[in-house]
Amino acid sequence: MLLQVQAAVSPPEPKPSTSAPAPEHRPPAAAPASEQSAGTVRPRLLLIEDEAGIVDFVRRGLQGAGFVLEAAADGIEGERLALSRNYDVILLDLMLPGRDGLEVLSAIRKARPGVPVIVLSARGELDDRVGGLDAGAVDYLVKPFSLAELEARVRAHLRLIEQAATTTLRGAGIEMNLLTREVSRDGEAVLLSTTEFELLACLLRHHGQVLTREQILTYVWRYEHDPATNVVDVYIGYLRRKLARADGSTPIATVRSVGYRLGRAE
Ligand code: CA
Repeated sequence: MLLQVQAAVSPPEPKPSTSAPAPEHRPPAAAPASEQSAGTVRPRLLLIEDEAGIVDFVRRGLQGAGFVLEAAADGIEGERLALSRNYDVILLDLMLPGRDGLEVLSAIRKARPGVPVIVLSARGELDDRVGGLDAGAVDYLVKPFSLAELEARVRAHLRLIEQAATTTLRGAGIEMNLLTREVSRDGEAVLLSTTEFELLACLLRHHGQVLTREQILTYVWRYEHDPATNVVDVYIGYLRRKLARADGSTPIATVRSVGYRLGRAE
């Protein structure tokens, strides 16, 4: 599984060309919706940029380098795509028609905190608004930029994602990132306290296995507990409430007189 994930985010092979991408020697780019190609998943990028010349330049370069690139020409469409589809990296211009790039950035940060956003900015915009990078861009490139530099930065951020992928736990529709500590169920963010987070990580690491209260106490609280304590049951209750679906179903099953198990309820 992890191997597959790592392969999925492996950067495309290096390419010497900078401003004149030559995609002819590569297989034709797949349609944007299709990331699957020859058994590998190509990194998927969104470019939000209103200057057609830059869109064309970036598209030819990055698609030639093995990325899937979708583009939006204004802030409203860009925000809509960024929030409704999954991208590995988002490239964002600041001066956009429809909605300002910083507003788009802020919306992405709220709804998709794990997706790296690289700002593409003209020098003047950047000088004026460098403080806006605090809004959560991971990086910025000043126009005009070279394709080689853009590709290198995209790859650098993909490598960080790859590292994070090795620290992601998944199961029962739940995904936990142990680096960013983001948790989601069925794609919806779930906010957990530190103890709830540790408890859920413990259950996910033993997905499908029954854990006794004593085992959970040792894994999560890491010290000998009064066997009469009900702290495990209390925190399981908190987690169940936070992870419950609209129909009330929970991914944590009680195994009577033994303990708990992450997986389908009995
Ligand atoms: Ca612009």
